[in-house]
Amino acid sequence: PEVPTLLDDMAARTRELLEARGIEAPIVVGIHSGGVWIAEHLRERLGIQRPLGKLDISFYRDDFSRIGMHPQVRPSELPEDLDGEHVLLVDDVLYTGRTIRAALNELFDWGRPASVSLVVLVDRDGRELPVCAAVAGAHMELGLAEQIKLRGPEPLSLERVAVEPP
Ligand code: 5GP
Ligand code: MG
Repeated sequence: PEVPTLLDDMAARTRELLEARGIEAPIVVGIHSGGVWIAEHLRERLGIQRPLGKLDISFYRDDFSRIGMHPQVRPSELPEDLDGEHVLLVDDVLYTGRTIRAALNELFDWGRPASVSLVVLVDRDGRELPVCAAVAGAHMELGLAEQIKLRGPEPLSLERVAVEPP
């Protein structure tokens, strides 16, 4: 993927989405940890003044072992009550969809949003739940023994790597 332009492109397409839906002041919420810097970038690009929300889904995700993740416990930081708010939910990679399912669970503990739109840097195939991104910077098809390695934001690099045995 052409990494230098991905984030700009995501911001432009998110702006179009907000305009089409008549949404003026969404709350941007990044999923800890990979989604947070992307969310902050997006918030700045869109000129959104409201503080960034951060979500930790460690307690909610129903399948930690798949990607060899050791869950970290961090409190969620959401700026305010989400009742009636439009939320831009941001993560780095969308894969099975389980993290997003878990994130929605937690979001709804903070109120009932008017809408939630998903923005991801990479849409990776392999969905196990009915989740799709409204905006994705890139689409990648990977084998089961491959993963996307991300570094960012300056410089942003996106590489395909073999999964190392545990
Ligand atoms: P899912 O829950 O959709 O299976 O996986 C999404 C979550 O796992 C994301 O929050 C992301 O951080 C992580 N993830 C899944 N696949 C990859 C990958 O190939 N590379 C990286 N860096 N993270 C991944
Ligand atoms: Mg993650």
